[in-house]
Amino acid sequence: MVAISDIKRHKTHAVKIRGVSVGGGSPVAVQSMTNTDTADIQASFLQIKELFTAGSELVRITVNNDEAAKSVSKIRELLDKEGISVPLVGCFHYNGHKLLTDYPELAGSLDKYRINPGNVGFGGKRDKQFEIMVEKAIEYNKPVRIGVNWGSLDQALLTGLMDDNANALNPLSADEVMREALVQSAITSAQKAEDIGLAPNQIILSAKVSRVQDLIAVYRELARRSDYALHLGLTEAGMGSKGIVATALAEGLLLQEGIGDTIRASLTPEPGGSRLQEVKVCQEILQALGLRSFAPEVSACPGCGRTTSTTFQELAQDIQAYLDRQMPLWKEQYPGTERLKVAVMGCIVNGPGESKHADIGISLPGTGETPVAPVFVDGKKAHTLRGDKIAEEFQGIVEDYVENRFGSQQNKAA
Ligand code: SF4
Repeated sequence: MVAISDIKRHKTHAVKIRGVSVGGGSPVAVQSMTNTDTADIQASFLQIKELFTAGSELVRITVNNDEAAKSVSKIRELLDKEGISVPLVGCFHYNGHKLLTDYPELAGSLDKYRINPGNVGFGGKRDKQFEIMVEKAIEYNKPVRIGVNWGSLDQALLTGLMDDNANALNPLSADEVMREALVQSAITSAQKAEDIGLAPNQIILSAKVSRVQDLIAVYRELARRSDYALHLGLTEAGMGSKGIVATALAEGLLLQEGIGDTIRASLTPEPGGSRLQEVKVCQEILQALGLRSFAPEVSACPGCGRTTSTTFQELAQDIQAYLDRQMPLWKEQYPGTERLKVAVMGCIVNGPGESKHADIGISLPGTGETPVAPVFVDGKKAHTLRGDKIAEEFQGIVEDYVENRFGSQQNKAA
């Protein structure tokens, strides 16, 4: 964990989910969601395993029909057999009350239930069906996430607020009323769950929207009006850099204000693209803010007219790939390596300075400079590399550094 952070966390209840703590000042947890058919036990198991291995600390799965409901306990068994303890969150819409009642193994093998108050049922059945789901959570001692989404917002509540607003002396904008409806839907549903008997430390709230400013406004209100643990997520964030930037901004700005106990990046993968990107993005948001450390950081300059070859970009890429490959092993062998900082710089202008700020840095020769690459270790010039084996030699220096600094002897001594 990186200790350098001035962020004061908003105080929330601590919710325990199969050994993972969310809220109450615990490190902000990373979560993700599968996109396999839950009824396909093998495919779902493999994707959950991949997400967990990539660092997802909670994994949500859709439970939308009888086949999916029957599969969950079997997926859990496969995970347990491989020693994968990741909590499974069941995502329910419309028929959750029925599935949790009809399939006790489902209710028992999930670790948290996601309830969407806008999709829990229609008309007069809605309250009863919400009540059944909460009662199941109490019976099986499971926490719930009351997850409101503006795409499925409780229409009766929204219409009521719109009508009140139309008659108000100083009416709010339609957007402001919609935000208020999201906040009220989440908080009043949580209060209803408490009235039914669920403890506040078994409740997590979310209120997802797809616009950055709306998300920030809504979560500020949730944090101001309640002390439930909060799940942050920009819904339908989209594809590629647009989705990543919007997610990082919305979640990053809230986290910087101390709001948020667990996060997800709802990114649309490219066709055939990896589902793991959403885990990496969450980790990078938390690491960039200094809230958690997951992997060594490689700083590299952007390059300019002083770097007319691609040598330094290739070296930065090679070192990043090398660190990514080594991390699963180093995590076990050399705890703390995730805090390592490496700099790969393109020329003498900022190279030596930036390299000195890293644990290990290399400043490559820019165009027209003497073809030597000084290497700085703990702020001091320790080596000068030259020739066509610079990448391999630098990698060796990084490896020695990790072994010496994070090896077991040093850990014992620390
Ligand atoms: S360190 Fe050198 S190569 Fe890199 S951006 Fe700065 S001036 Fe350009």
